[in-house]
Amino acid sequence: MIGDGTRCVRGGGHDEPAVGEPVHRGPVLTSTFHLGRPEQAEAGTDFYARADNPTWREFEAAVGALDGGECTVFPSGMAAVAAVLRAFAGRERGVLLPSDGYYVARLLADEELAPLGVPVAYCATAGDWARAIAAHRPGLVMLETPSNPGLEVCDVRAVAAAAHAAGAVVAVDNTTCTPLGQRPLELGADLAVASDTKALSGHGDLLLGHVSAADPVHHERIRGFRTRGGAIAGPMETWLALRGLGTLDLRLARQADNARALALALREVPGVRDVRWPGLHDDPSHALARTQMRRWNGVLRFTLPDVHAVSGLLARSTLVDSATSFGGLRTAADRRARWGDAVPDGLVRLSCGVEDTADLVEDVVGALSGR
Ligand SMILES: *Cc1c(COP(=O)(O)O)cnc(C)c1O
Repeated sequence: MIGDGTRCVRGGGHDEPAVGEPVHRGPVLTSTFHLGRPEQAEAGTDFYARADNPTWREFEAAVGALDGGECTVFPSGMAAVAAVLRAFAGRERGVLLPSDGYYVARLLADEELAPLGVPVAYCATAGDWARAIAAHRPGLVMLETPSNPGLEVCDVRAVAAAAHAAGAVVAVDNTTCTPLGQRPLELGADLAVASDTKALSGHGDLLLGHVSAADPVHHERIRGFRTRGGAIAGPMETWLALRGLGTLDLRLARQADNARALALALREVPGVRDVRWPGLHDDPSHALARTQMRRWNGVLRFTLPDVHAVSGLLARSTLVDSATSFGGLRTAADRRARWGDAVPDGLVRLSCGVEDTADLVEDVVGALSGR
């Protein structure tokens, strides 16, 4: 089995390229394709770019191979989450979601699905999922692990087993890990969903998402929903994400190194509480995370006394951007209470970039220490 770096670089490529073909194919920017004469119609060829196009296929081949399933690309992470909810949460048996995951997924369920009569229920990521599944009998169980922003972890194998025993479809939002960090389909989930806006594309210059399915029937359902729903990714964004994917292994390695160094350093800084990163050997999530994550992620969180302390950090730091989103090249801090997450006012989600570790630690610790 070839390694992560090789798979990222070679993913989506052609096995036997023809002489004279470009080594790097650009995005295919066309809405429509030559059909030929009516009697020449051939199944499987491109005809209209809402249904399929060659740039999607390259991206989906690369990401699907990493996820271990069949991939469908979407124009954002939320478009991918929405497709899963609309395709698998019905009026009889609704959806069970994490109460502490990405907040827009909750808004989507509460504001768009519940009014249509779809039952919506919640369970904390680190809570008792078997009990919640037994109580609510959902048709779809959606997990997010590690969760954003809390970095809590749940046991994908155990929840998938309980959900399947109750006849539910299981989806895992894998955004914080990327397919290099965790393979939900190998852990028993039916669907892996992600915002590729974050580390997967990795340069903070586009929005994109995807759903990978283990079962071809689920895959066809998701694809059909995309074609009919019409929320489709632009070939330019898809191609940029494919280009970013080539360096995912390198970026993730540096981001995780930076996260580890910062997590350890932050614990020693007075006034910094509750530093959480699953890669720390004594983090409450570590023992479980080790059994299902393949490598560590680049996002951590900690809590400062109040908003002013967060302001001070941002004012004194020269390497930390005040920005939301994560997984990019530059380190960014986001005070999550600002977005309405039910977290302390001073909780900071820190997305570690690919700066030199020593520079970053000196900058952040210095800024927190009033230097
Ligand atoms: C950002 C994010 C999303 C939404 O993705 P967009 O690309 O912003 O639409 C969904 N889930 C998680 C865990 C995220 O972090």
